[in-house]
Amino acid sequence: MIDLHTHSTASDGTLTPEELVDLAAEKGLRAIALTDHDTVGGISAALERGNQRRVLVIPGVELGACWNGDGEMHILGYHVDHQHPFLLDRLSWLRARRRERAEKIVSRLHEIGVPVSGDRVLQLAGSGSVGRPHVARALLEAGYVQSVSEAFDRYLKAGAPAFLEKFQFTSAEAIELITISGGVAVLAHPATLRLSPDGLGACLEQLINEGLRGIEVYWSKHDKSEISYYEQLATRYALIITGGSDFHGSNKPTLELGAKLNGHVDEAYMLRALQGGTRRPA
Ligand code: AMP
Ligand code: FE
Ligand code: FE
Ligand code: ZN
Repeated sequence: MIDLHTHSTASDGTLTPEELVDLAAEKGLRAIALTDHDTVGGISAALERGNQRRVLVIPGVELGACWNGDGEMHILGYHVDHQHPFLLDRLSWLRARRRERAEKIVSRLHEIGVPVSGDRVLQLAGSGSVGRPHVARALLEAGYVQSVSEAFDRYLKAGAPAFLEKFQFTSAEAIELITISGGVAVLAHPATLRLSPDGLGACLEQLINEGLRGIEVYWSKHDKSEISYYEQLATRYALIITGGSDFHGSNKPTLELGAKLNGHVDEAYMLRALQGGTRRPA
C-alpha cells in the first residue's frame, strides 16, 4: 500500500512528520508523499525517518489555486526540490499571508463575541502553515465548540461569519512554481472543483496547457462513479494517475492513512510515473 497525499504538523495535520512515517511503517505502507499546505518544512524530518523505517518518502507540497469556479482547486507537487531557494521563498511568502489572515479571522471572532486567543492559534501552528484548522482547535480547546467540524460549520466555512478567503496563486503560477522546483504537478481531489463532466474536461485542458501532468483519481472522498470518470479522463488526456488519503490525523478523524486504490492501479507504476514525470502516451 502507498499514500501520496498526507499532512503533518508542518501544516494542518496532527502527527509530526516522524510520527506520520512511523504510522506508515506500522501499517505496512511502502511509500508516502508528504504534501503539506504551502510548506516543505516537514520534508527533511520525514525523509530521515523514512530511511530509518524503510518507508519511501516522496517530497511533496499542496497549493491552493484561485480560478474562475466556485469549488476549490488544489494542486499537488511531487518530487519538488525541498531546498530550492525560489520554492522556499514563495512558500514562506504564502505562509506570511496565512498569518495575516489568521489574525483577521481571530479579530472577526472577537467582534462576534468569541474571544479566542490569537496567540494560541499561532502557537498551535508552531513554525508551520497556519490555517483555519488551527483556529478550529483553539476554539475547541477554549470550549466554544465541541469538535473541529462544529468550528467550521459555525464560524469558519465559506459563508460563515468568520470566514476569510486566503491568498492563492493562479493555477498557472502554482503549476509553474512546482515545475521550476523540479516537481510534477498533479490536480488534487478533482471532486472539490464541483464541475460538470464537460466542465472538468475543459478545465483539465487548460491545466495541461499550464503544465499539469497528473490527476488524483483515488482520494478518500471520491465515490465509485467519480473514480471511474477520473480514470477515463486520465486516459483521455494521458495524465499520470495518483492516489492518496488526505490524512490529517485527528483534525479529520474519519480519514485513515493509506490510499484506497481498489487494486485498480499498479503502485510501482504510479511511483515510477511520478519519478519520471512524463505523462502517459495517450
Ligand atoms: P485553510 O487552508 O486555512 O483555508 O484551511 C483549509 C483546511 O481546513 C483544509 O485543508 C482542511 O484540512 C480543513 N477543513 C476544511 N473544511 C473542514 C471541515 N469542515 N472540517 C474539518 N476540517 C476542514
Ligand atoms: Fe488541510
Ligand atoms: Fe486539498
Ligand atoms: Zn490535502
